[in-house]
Amino acid sequence: MTLDSNMGGGSPSRQMYDVSALGLKCAGCGAVINQLPFQPSGDRPIYCRECNSNRNKGNTFTGNPRPPRQMYDVSAMDLKCGTCNTDILELPFQPSGDRPVYCRDCNSNRTKKF
Ligand SMILES: [Zn+2]
Ligand SMILES: [Zn+2]
Repeated sequence: MTLDSNMGGGSPSRQMYDVSALGLKCAGCGAVINQLPFQPSGDRPIYCRECNSNRNKGNTFTGNPRPPRQMYDVSAMDLKCGTCNTDILELPFQPSGDRPVYCRDCNSNRTKKF
């Protein structure tokens, strides 16, 4: 029995199911899986912690990475967000100057609300 619960330091302990008797393997890297945060149903692939966090991180990585959005450097224009007054350093479009611009946070808030 190895004890590595001291490594994270302060992360809340999640309920883990001991699945070591099932001989489960990670569908990503083939590592043996001893514990899972859920009861495995047996009809879908499961992944080890590492592969899981990789999958969460890189959801868009399907072998066809999208190019990053073109950003315009507007730091020299001294623009401020029309809502929260944050300095805006770059924008995904060229500002026309006659409409308010919004920082990324406020922009996503505006989109979400709708
Ligand atoms: Zn894995
Ligand atoms: Zn803002």
